[in-house]
Amino acid sequence: MATLYYTPSAEIDEIYARLQKTFKEGKTRPIAYRRQQLLQLARMMQDNRTAIEEAELADLGKPRQETTIAEVSAVLGSALRAAESLVEWTTPDKPKVEEWRSSWDTTIFKVPKGVSLIISPWNYPFIITFNPLVGAIAAGCPVVLKPSEAVPACSALMKSLVEKYLDPEAYAVVNGAVKETTDLLSRPWGHMFFTGGGKIGRIIAGAAAKTLTPVTLELGGKSPVVIDEGCDLELAAKRTLFGKSQNSGQLCVSPDHVYVPRSLAPAFKEAVKKVYASFFPDTALHPSAQWGNIVNPLHHSRVKGLLDRTKGEILVGGGVDANKRIALTVVAGVKPDDSLMEEEIFGPLLPVIEVENLDETIRLIGERPHPLVLYAFTNNEETRQRLVNETNSGGLIFNDTTIHLSIHEMPFGGLGESGYGAYHGKDSFDSFTHRRSSINVPAAAEGIFAARYRPYSDEKYAI
Ligand code: NAD
Repeated sequence: MATLYYTPSAEIDEIYARLQKTFKEGKTRPIAYRRQQLLQLARMMQDNRTAIEEAELADLGKPRQETTIAEVSAVLGSALRAAESLVEWTTPDKPKVEEWRSSWDTTIFKVPKGVSLIISPWNYPFIITFNPLVGAIAAGCPVVLKPSEAVPACSALMKSLVEKYLDPEAYAVVNGAVKETTDLLSRPWGHMFFTGGGKIGRIIAGAAAKTLTPVTLELGGKSPVVIDEGCDLELAAKRTLFGKSQNSGQLCVSPDHVYVPRSLAPAFKEAVKKVYASFFPDTALHPSAQWGNIVNPLHHSRVKGLLDRTKGEILVGGGVDANKRIALTVVAGVKPDDSLMEEEIFGPLLPVIEVENLDETIRLIGERPHPLVLYAFTNNEETRQRLVNETNSGGLIFNDTTIHLSIHEMPFGGLGESGYGAYHGKDSFDSFTHRRSSINVPAAAEGIFAARYRPYSDEKYAI
């Protein structure tokens, strides 16, 4: 594994001072500058596709195809879309006001919040670091990026690419672990954008409170899949196993567990076996061109431990090597108090829980913290309405999994334990933007202000 150069604290001081100076001087504000930096970011992804694929292979064994589709193309696309949308996003809003204030030039300016901090996890290192960066550049904020030390090849590459392609006076990468992040967190920022687990999310929110820094928390959680009577079971199995397979289940919106009505369970299990055989015809431990690693031995033993302790029965999969790979494994007959239901799995295990009916599913969902996303396979309008009204979650996706990440026109974010704030598309720009209300009150308004001036008198206040 590559060794990562951790940024020394004197360099962090220097970076922080440099970026603050750049912001004060207004360098990142002009639309032309923002557009040029966004195009540079797009060019960076285009020029370095192979290097990015190789870094992800080194750190995660991630199949090249997954890196290119989910990260390289996705960042490139969002940088280009933001560059195209800059004028629309930055144009001040002119809210409609009451007629008697119509000459007051009521304007909401979209101003950059200031030098911002983006802290990201290891699972999709490039997109989770650079997609918020797109929003920050579009908003006119200089940024410090703090990628994860758990993917040293990716984090080292990000530093060298950012230094080569983006303006070093405005954008910098700080590499490191707890010490370096704690140093960054002790400083005030225009905005802090954190993606990771809830445990560290609480540390981030606590630090943000001390400096009164606004913060977005993109966290995780156990995202359920609901199987409804009358849905196409084979399609549901296919789309669920597809979602679960991405990055070997190490995806924040990975389907975490499935609720299936008892009456449908035998047919659903058959559908799972059939789809599984079509996805992985060969071996119990899938070939490496098809399947990535668990990020490190610590997570490998955590995921393996959940599997070892389950009281469910392995329906398909079950292959585990010494410390890198775990096959996609579906476990049937899992009870709500099983080891697989203790925490976000964040790995390639998929427990299937049998329930009596939709009432029981809704009750079980409600007993857990709000998930980042709730998936449901149903063709029934009443079921859809019940899930809309009787459950809550970051997102609600019917009849597919994970696809919502690619819809730029909708906010992506959590609720409660799965986080707060949202991004993607314009919501990314909004995260780093302060809506600054402004008015210009004309002298002619004096006529209607008489009542506000002293001396007070009853007749002035007659209504
Ligand atoms: P993590 O919370 O362990 O780490 C994320 C970042 O926090 C890293 O950069 C790390 O260096 C930093 N960090 C770690 N310990 C710290 C400390 N004590 N103080 C300050 N900073 C610290 O997350 P992870 O294991 O890298 O990622 C997995 C989690 O992220 C899962 O829960 C997953 O669901 C979530 N996630 C969420 C999204 C989303 O968009 N909502 C996307 C990807 C991952």
